[in-house]
Amino acid sequence: MQKFDLIVIGSGSGLDVANAASQQGLKVAIVEKGKLGGTCLNRGCIPSKMIIHSADLVEKIKQAEIFGIKINDGGLSIDFQKIISRVNETIDSHSLEIKNGLERSENPRLFTRECKFVGDKTFVLMEGNEAKEEIISADKILIASGARPIIPEIKGLKVSGYITSDEALRILHQPRVLTFIGGGYIACELAHFFGSLGTEINIIQKSNSLLPHEDEETSKKFTEIFSKKFKVYLGYNTESVSRDNGNEFHVIARNSNGKSIEVESDQLLVSVGRGPNSDILDVTKTGVQLNERGFVKVDEYLETSVKGIFAIGDAVGKYQFKHNSNNEAKYAYHNILNPDKKIVVDYFAMPHAIFSSPQIAGVGFTEQELRTMKQYDYQKSVFPYINTAMGKTIEDKDGFVKFLVDKKDRKILGCHIMGSDASILIHEVLVAMKAGDGKIDSINKTIHIHPALSEVVARAASSI
Ligand SMILES: Cc1cc2nc3c(=O)[nH]c(=O)nc-3n(C[C@H](O)[C@H](O)[C@H](O)COP(=O)(O)OP(=O)(O)OC[C@H]3O[C@@H](n4cnc5c(N)ncnc54)[C@H](O)[C@@H]3O)c2cc1C
Repeated sequence: MQKFDLIVIGSGSGLDVANAASQQGLKVAIVEKGKLGGTCLNRGCIPSKMIIHSADLVEKIKQAEIFGIKINDGGLSIDFQKIISRVNETIDSHSLEIKNGLERSENPRLFTRECKFVGDKTFVLMEGNEAKEEIISADKILIASGARPIIPEIKGLKVSGYITSDEALRILHQPRVLTFIGGGYIACELAHFFGSLGTEINIIQKSNSLLPHEDEETSKKFTEIFSKKFKVYLGYNTESVSRDNGNEFHVIARNSNGKSIEVESDQLLVSVGRGPNSDILDVTKTGVQLNERGFVKVDEYLETSVKGIFAIGDAVGKYQFKHNSNNEAKYAYHNILNPDKKIVVDYFAMPHAIFSSPQIAGVGFTEQELRTMKQYDYQKSVFPYINTAMGKTIEDKDGFVKFLVDKKDRKILGCHIMGSDASILIHEVLVAMKAGDGKIDSINKTIHIHPALSEVVARAASSI
């Protein structure tokens, strides 16, 4: 048995902790069963945003006529395989660089295997399905094992040969018609990608709107826009999937009134959420507790039910974003190294963005949450992009910024942006909420550059 000071499971945000701890002189092992760099690099944020950039370009080119630019003769043509291979070459070489770097170093020591607990703070490293006789153990452990797509129990689905976002990001042939089961953020990003390049899109969504966790005005407007571009079936539960001799998928779904639909396509993408990889780890062997959905239970310091075992990121599942995993990694690193001076994780003003079309970003409470909580007497302002100089310049007719502000102390309770560069515009709100005094007035007092797009944030703020 090999003994380490710290074992890190997973090379996504776990890698930051492994590297930093080894630089502090701890003897560290990092165990990774897949490609180095985890979900974000290999099958998440980075490849999805790279392919979406191509979709954004296509959309812009298609709108070019509004701005007096005509695409003549041959028009637009898409080299789908080039889009995919450009992205995969970039991410694969980055992942390989990380692997080569780790293999050259003594510390952290890399194990490119799957592992599972076999006892108290002790792992066995697996080879295929077989446990090889390699046992490692450490007093400190970080579980950063991430999550994977949830595959729902639907009649005929398993044998139909569906794909998830993992395969979609590496698919070599552009589907003619693509059906999504699920209408959350991953589906809405990938639908934008494939749809902009010419694939016909069907989305079968259980809820009555797409992106149901967004603020109600964002979700409603986004659903309206998507429903004009694509076939969106709201309130439908998928009952069965089959595939005919011509390889076409047939998806049967039913709504609460008993109305049933049959949707046909040449590709099927399942995107109903992501569940934890904790089942592979067999955590019960070491006493780490999971919640009812299988995510690792942690306290405010990210320590699990077992002293010395910490967990971060998608394995914990509080917020399934890369910036959250990275933020938690910093706290986990500190708390692992300083057990007597642990710091409570600060999640305040956790933002998110959805890189679809239109783009979305948000922070804080949604209006429906505030209504349900009844804790705040709030006021709101909604300001459209098109009523600003730059909004008009780029002809963003749908975009808006919405603020939710506490009437009592003028603190920003939430901000929700839909439209061009929403993911960038939200940042001044984040700074105001987190580093400033948190009041809407800190945005009002700031001089904004005219006629930059950020004026829409300023105008929304000054309407309160
Ligand atoms: C399509 C898609 C798009 C996304 N876009 C965004 C975005 O734009 N912005 C954003 O913030 N987030 C985005 N995310 C979410 C983001 O990728 C994740 O929240 C983040 O990468 C999680 O990081 P992590 O370190 O917690 O886990 P991961 O990066 O998933 O790392 C976990 C690692 O642990 C390994 N592992 C698991 N079990 C074992 C085991 N038993 N033995 C050995 N190794 C093991 C896995 O192979 C994996 O590499 C996206 C996700 C997807 C799928």
